[in-house]
Amino acid sequence: MSDPASKHSLVLEQLLQELPHALVLEPEQLRALMSDKSGHTSARPPLCVVEALALEDVVKVVTIASQHQIPLVTRGAGSGLAGGAIGGPGEIVLSLAKMNAILEISASDRWAVVQAGVINHDLNEAAKEQGLWFTPDPASRKWSTVGGNIATNAGGLLCVKYGVTRESVLELTVVLASGEILKVGHKSVKGVTGYDLAALMVGSEGTLGIICEARVSLEPLDPHPVWTISGRAPHMSVATGAIEHTIARGLKPAIMELLDEASVRHISNLLAQKIDHPGTVQLIAQADGPGSEEEAERIAETWRECGIDVEVGQDREDLIEFRRSMHPAMEAQGTVLIEDVAVPRSQIGAMFAAIREIEKEFGIEIPTVAHAGDGNLHPNFLYTGDEVPAEIWSAADALFRQAVALGGTLTGEHGVGLLKRKWLLEELGQTQWELQRKIKEVFDPLGILNPGKVFTP
Ligand SMILES: Cc1cc2nc3c(=O)[nH]c(=O)nc-3n(C[C@H](O)[C@H](O)[C@H](O)COP(=O)(O)OP(=O)(O)OC[C@H]3O[C@@H](n4cnc5c(N)ncnc54)[C@H](O)[C@@H]3O)c2cc1C
Repeated sequence: MSDPASKHSLVLEQLLQELPHALVLEPEQLRALMSDKSGHTSARPPLCVVEALALEDVVKVVTIASQHQIPLVTRGAGSGLAGGAIGGPGEIVLSLAKMNAILEISASDRWAVVQAGVINHDLNEAAKEQGLWFTPDPASRKWSTVGGNIATNAGGLLCVKYGVTRESVLELTVVLASGEILKVGHKSVKGVTGYDLAALMVGSEGTLGIICEARVSLEPLDPHPVWTISGRAPHMSVATGAIEHTIARGLKPAIMELLDEASVRHISNLLAQKIDHPGTVQLIAQADGPGSEEEAERIAETWRECGIDVEVGQDREDLIEFRRSMHPAMEAQGTVLIEDVAVPRSQIGAMFAAIREIEKEFGIEIPTVAHAGDGNLHPNFLYTGDEVPAEIWSAADALFRQAVALGGTLTGEHGVGLLKRKWLLEELGQTQWELQRKIKEVFDPLGILNPGKVFTP
């Protein structure tokens, strides 16, 4: 059947027959799927959304999509910042949000088995009852799904000590583009049989398969107090020097964040907080686990030696809240494009210096916060309107090139999606880019899984 309209009505008919409980055609709901949190919106709503309730529902949708070669966009909570979960004309959106059961929590194996739509925070609350926690901590953890966290290999504040989502994934149940169900990874902590396909699925942004269930590792909750170190640096180079020294001394903060002067100012304005030291750069670290107090003192000592004004205390949730208020502070002023470059930790100072040069060149302010402990910077671009203006893209382009030139990468945790696909080839190089495209073809020979995301069409 060549006519797209007839093909679409046949597909809808089939979906209605096989998934009457899950098919949604409500225009308002479809319009909501035209965007995520990236600031990007598709031209028109998708064909429909299927809200899967079970693995069998996913198999049915994928089989129908494959039979008619209809593009399929998998979606969790839609909190993504790269445009990966956006549905467009002629596409089926497959929502995993209602597959949100926690199937098992085992204290003896220190794992949880969950359906992909479980909210990160809900898993943590359930794990807490058994003295455990799930370490991936994107700032979106109250809304984002574990499946989405895995599909984007999400990071967060705690990655400097606990790593990104990849470190917590043991085994995945995936529905392939063919409709087959496949388990990849291992139940055991160790396991090196064959290629690591679970790792390949992590960060694949809905382009290789649909993650339906996950067995993720959990950590024991630690009874020791968490100590917070707050530092105010007179200049960015002083702050980045202190970060370098902290890492070089073998210290292991659980969190090590950096906010430039503009970010401190914008957040302070949002929270109507008095700024004690205008013009300063803010550093925040936390030490947890056995020896946390001693670790905090050693971090504080290192920072003082670098010329930073330091305070150490136990209950400083206010400071973490201050850091988490960056996104609302930006959103309060306009539309925001949050960038996500990562560089080797020794290059954080050079990356901040490059951002200041780009600000001058383009005549714009780029307030930047960083998960400094792992070299991941979030420069923020503010603009008005629905589309990112060309000059903002030009400034972002200069920023990406600089990050790659410093040995870094386009995206530390948010993913490629639609927003970064233009720069993928430049970072990967021709040979790796082609190899990656061929991997995509092996998993998805008809090209129905999230086409146009990650790779340019
Ligand atoms: C205020 C705010 C703060 C944020 N903070 C962080 C942060 O600190 N760190 C961080 O890394 N990110 C952060 N994010 C980005 C976002 O929350 C993460 O990328 C998150 O992991 C996305 O989860 P989701 O369920 O919303 O996925 P979605 O946005 O729905 O999807 C994201 C991508 O994953 C794919 N996908 C989703 N579920 C599946 C599945 N089951 N199988 C296969 N593919 C799937 C989609 O196709 C899409 O490509 C933040 C976002 C916001 C709005």
